[in-house]
Amino acid sequence: MSRINRRDFLRLAGGTAAAAGAFGFPGLLLANTRNVVVVGGGVGGCTAAKYLRKLDPTLNVTLVEAKTHYTSCFMSNEVLSGDRTLESITFSYADLKHRYGVNVVIDSAVGIDPAARQVRTASGANLAYDACIVSPGVDFKWDAIEGYDAQVAESIPHAWFAGPQTMTLRNQLLAMPDGGRVAIVAPPNPYKCPPGPYERASQVAMYCKHHKPKSKILILDPKGKFSKARLFKQGWAQHYGFDTDNSMIEWVGRDQGGTVSALDAASGILKAEAGDVRADVINIIPPQKAGAIAFAADLVDGDWCPVDKRTFESTRHPGIYVLGDASSAAKMPKSAYAANSQAKVAVAAILSRFAGAEPGEPTYVNTCYSIIAEEHGISVAAVYRLSEDGKVITKVEGSGGLSPMDASAEHRKREVTYAHSWFRNVIDDMMQ
Ligand SMILES: Cc1cc2nc3c(=O)[nH]c(=O)nc-3n(C[C@H](O)[C@H](O)[C@H](O)COP(=O)(O)OP(=O)(O)OC[C@H]3O[C@@H](n4cnc5c(N)ncnc54)[C@H](O)[C@@H]3O)c2cc1C
Repeated sequence: MSRINRRDFLRLAGGTAAAAGAFGFPGLLLANTRNVVVVGGGVGGCTAAKYLRKLDPTLNVTLVEAKTHYTSCFMSNEVLSGDRTLESITFSYADLKHRYGVNVVIDSAVGIDPAARQVRTASGANLAYDACIVSPGVDFKWDAIEGYDAQVAESIPHAWFAGPQTMTLRNQLLAMPDGGRVAIVAPPNPYKCPPGPYERASQVAMYCKHHKPKSKILILDPKGKFSKARLFKQGWAQHYGFDTDNSMIEWVGRDQGGTVSALDAASGILKAEAGDVRADVINIIPPQKAGAIAFAADLVDGDWCPVDKRTFESTRHPGIYVLGDASSAAKMPKSAYAANSQAKVAVAAILSRFAGAEPGEPTYVNTCYSIIAEEHGISVAAVYRLSEDGKVITKVEGSGGLSPMDASAEHRKREVTYAHSWFRNVIDDMMQ
């Protein structure tokens, strides 16, 4: 990807050959410096900032990010099993700054004025833009589970943003006695990383199998089914005795009363439809909505941000592009790879707009790996295109698919290698 030029990029990441031809190289020599402000230095925001600068070094690109470092949620479940450290998933913005010339501002965006075309930050700066990209990820609906809020989450962690809470959960697993019970409360759809709670249960089981083999993991789920369920259940049966009398993992779905309505934090009891559940370690992943700035900037319709799926431009405020978890991008899942792919579509659209050209025909891609045991990985992959009416992102017939149910042990082992290699590649592509 390092030697790709803008014309190739537009063709590959969204532009038709015709649009790219009309647009061509002279756009690189634009006299007027354009300002792009990117809110959120996660997968979507970093990828967009990097590719904007890479493809048009005349652009003035400012990335506003609340934290000094990015800790990736993807692969953070491996911290829970002890297979990797938090440091190994924490990255600096130095390359974006020094290698790609992005102005990285550590601050929080608190408002966007679409008429004045300015982003306001907590420290009082007003950043002018010709195009604004918003990729703030998700926020929680704290009123969904009685007794569970941001303060309680400090001791009964969600660990759905990788960071200190990941370590809290890890330390609670270390402190749990052998024979203890871990309860994972899964969220309703839609939420970031559909297979994430089930990979988490697998990684916790991996730790318990080696260190606390009498322990149990209970997944309480308001959903009747979940992503890659047959593959997960097959892997759990193979490694953790799933569906036997001595299963380490138990899944209690909607129809079995898995919906949790309340937590009594003092006694460590969850109120589920099936009855009260006491656990030694509780991990609640609350229902989700777009990050707070999307609400402050009036970019939402309900919980998520509607976008023109050809460009990822907000349908509520032109000139603002919403990427990643915060956007309504059905049928793409809320995943890192999806955010990375959407960023490239939006970059192509913004460069076309600056050049006075129509946006091209986009394609999008997603792959998501889950690691069930040391040598057992599974995945789902798809290539997508826009439906004819331009309203839905649909899977290209015959593209991608799930790992086969009858895969060999060698295949499962190889998928773990692929997962780790995907992780390094996506971090590299977004910010290095
Ligand atoms: C446990 C877990 C495992 C996962 N595993 C995978 C996986 O294997 N594969 C996969 O593809 N995906 C995975 N994901 C999903 C993936 O992490 C997200 O889908 C992806 O990070 C979305 O990118 P984003 O840009 O939308 O948001 P994020 O990457 O979350 O970035 C948002 C950024 O915006 C910043 N921000 C928010 N508001 C503001 C503001 N107002 N001002 C300034 N900065 C702000 C935040 O600090 C953050 O850095 C996983 C998620 C979890 C929780």
